[in-house]
Amino acid sequence: MVNPNQQADRIMVNDKFFRLYLGREEIDEIVARLASDIDSDYTGKVPLMLGILNGAFIFASDLVRKMKIPCEISFVKYASYKGMESGGSINSLIGLNETIRGREVIIVEDIVDTGRTMAKLLGDLKLYEPASVRIACFCFKTEAFTENFTIDYCGLEIPDLFVVGYGLDYDGSGRNFPDIYQLDNSK
Ligand code: 5GP
Repeated sequence: MVNPNQQADRIMVNDKFFRLYLGREEIDEIVARLASDIDSDYTGKVPLMLGILNGAFIFASDLVRKMKIPCEISFVKYASYKGMESGGSINSLIGLNETIRGREVIIVEDIVDTGRTMAKLLGDLKLYEPASVRIACFCFKTEAFTENFTIDYCGLEIPDLFVVGYGLDYDGSGRNFPDIYQLDNSK
């Protein structure tokens, strides 16, 4: 039985093998850089950090704990992703409320793939009249991206790989690995 907390070259999640893509030390450095950029840009302000569940729960908790400025934290949820292909349909949003109005919002997302989920959230958020909206995203799959919004705080641009760990799952499993692993099709 694999101990998820122990970094390994190769892991099995459900029925698939994954190999190490990005270790926890590098993840930590990336999150520290993003936190420091946000600190500088929001000095004197109290941004509302809006994490997208489920995937962003670990990135969001690391990010806010590295930030030195005060902030508030809230989460919203869309459920659209099954298996290993980005879902075509996006379900309704849970968790947005009036506290968004007039706030400096920073959306915190684990991964932007096609960008559809984020584009939908940006549209939905607008209805709540925030003062501003920026995006912090840990992984950005530039090749798969089909939308035209800007990612203000981008951790890492990655090719079109399927990754798990650091909050990201494969069919519900693998979120609790502290490192990021990519799908490994070799036997
Ligand atoms: P998008 O709407 O940008 O195509 O997809 C965004 C969502 O798809 C992410 O929030 C994430 O849940 C899921 N997703 C996209 N790529 C991956 C990936 O490589 N691994 C995992 N585990 N989820 C992904």
